[in-house]
Amino acid sequence: MQEPTDAAARRAVKPVICYPNDTLPAPDMALYASARQTARKVGEVQVAPRDAACFRMAAGQFFRISSVEGPQVGDLNLWNANDLSERFYSGKSRALHGTHLSMGERMWSSFPYLRPMATITDDTLGWYGIDEFGGSVHDVIGTRCDPYTGNLLSGAQYHHCCHSNLTRALADETGMTLTEAEPHVHDVLNVFMCTGFTRDTGQYFMKASPVRPGDYLEFFAEIDLLGALSACPGGDCSSEHSSDAAACYPLLVEIFAPADGALTGWQSPPVNGYDRSHGR
Ligand SMILES: [Zn+2]
Repeated sequence: MQEPTDAAARRAVKPVICYPNDTLPAPDMALYASARQTARKVGEVQVAPRDAACFRMAAGQFFRISSVEGPQVGDLNLWNANDLSERFYSGKSRALHGTHLSMGERMWSSFPYLRPMATITDDTLGWYGIDEFGGSVHDVIGTRCDPYTGNLLSGAQYHHCCHSNLTRALADETGMTLTEAEPHVHDVLNVFMCTGFTRDTGQYFMKASPVRPGDYLEFFAEIDLLGALSACPGGDCSSEHSSDAAACYPLLVEIFAPADGALTGWQSPPVNGYDRSHGR
């Protein structure tokens, strides 16, 4: 293919940030930190390897996802506990914050709500940054491993991909059938997963997660939440997904409630202010 004569000049145009995020409502991290100091543990759920579990948090509580026995990646879904149609929107969270989330960044909800569901308040892998391959941790660029893609690529019937694990967990939690639960499962925050795009071909890559037992990612629940976490069959995601080949470990979810009065001045965010008239 012939390049135009001004190809170099066109490529040299400097990028602009799509969504400058300096006008996003800023979380009060100092308030969250002081509230966290007062918090006591009110619940925990262990997520078995190659399976998923649900858990609930009230607005104003904290939840922590920990690596406990070995390097393990988790696929996280969040819903408004009172209305499953409001759920985590990974694509918009990516557009607002970038490819990977860390301290002070937020998990945003789907349209027409578009508000913070959870704010990341602690991240023991925050030191990792962006490595020489362009990889980083806790991505919102992947989807969730699923049996449909596995079937497309290899003809397999594998039942413990994160998509199926999350579907079973949501069905068990809500009493829905698998068929009813499946459409509520959505693209995830890939907790502890180390990913990026190759510079030469732009392909999505993963590499062994730097997570070790004791590491955790902690969140503040901005609204009442139903969460589901899958301990991915990829384990640390160093080699493959969608099989029982990788070493897999459990993940621990713990819920913490701050003391009464510790969040004075904080309010659960309202739904988005767009009037929804769409020009009519
Ligand atoms: Zn997975």
